[in-house]
Amino acid sequence: MTTDIDKLARDELKKLRQQMVQYQLAARGLTDERVLDALAAVPREAFVPDELIPYAYQDRPLPIEANQTISQPYIVGLMTAALELQADDRVLEIGTGSGYAAAVLAEICAEVYTVERHRELAESARERLAALGYDNVHVKHGDGTLGWPEHAPYDGIIVAAGAPEIPRPLTEQLAIGGRLVIPVGPTLETQKLLRVRRTGENSFEQDNLGAVRFVPLIGEAGWREKEGDAQ
Ligand code: SAH
Repeated sequence: MTTDIDKLARDELKKLRQQMVQYQLAARGLTDERVLDALAAVPREAFVPDELIPYAYQDRPLPIEANQTISQPYIVGLMTAALELQADDRVLEIGTGSGYAAAVLAEICAEVYTVERHRELAESARERLAALGYDNVHVKHGDGTLGWPEHAPYDGIIVAAGAPEIPRPLTEQLAIGGRLVIPVGPTLETQKLLRVRRTGENSFEQDNLGAVRFVPLIGEAGWREKEGDAQ
């Protein structure tokens, strides 16, 4: 009996996930098939607190532990598409949070390195990703504004929190030809989503992908702690 109910719930969540891809992503102009397939494959319900599972496929961010959020699926899709990933790419994510976006990235590229400043989030994301079989995701607890130099350079870097300016360690850890997607803004309230492409040792091109709103990026090359929250 329990099994039947579990199966019903799983089937229903799968249907909601397919509807999310169709109505929240494809209908808004996201056309990259690999990104749509990745979002169709990752069970978002496994990344939200139990009591929010019924809302897992709604078109919005949801609260997670440590006063943080799991990003809106459309934003994850938009940022992932902006990274222009290839199957053998290595990607760095700053702001693991629940681990959801890391799982989406892991569906598309070879290795994902992800850094989270809240220890409890890093630990629960690591466990969750391992339980789901994402063995190409590597989670580190630390200050992601400094990147993860040991595994650099990266073909893509994605930052899931709003920065006052582009952290220099991240552009330094970008491969030539690599793309950095990051929300940047002068206040904690709003940011513009930037894509920075490293075109040479000392040359970069930048484009603006639109207005967004993220939790603050707190760290040495980000906002200071008192401006955001405590660790
Ligand atoms: N990608 C996440 C979204 C998390 S929200 C998901 O899919 O669920 C952004 C995360 O960035 C928060 O968990 C926050 O704690 C983290 N963060 C903020 N500043 C950081 C820093 N300097 N280094 C690493 N993580 C940081």
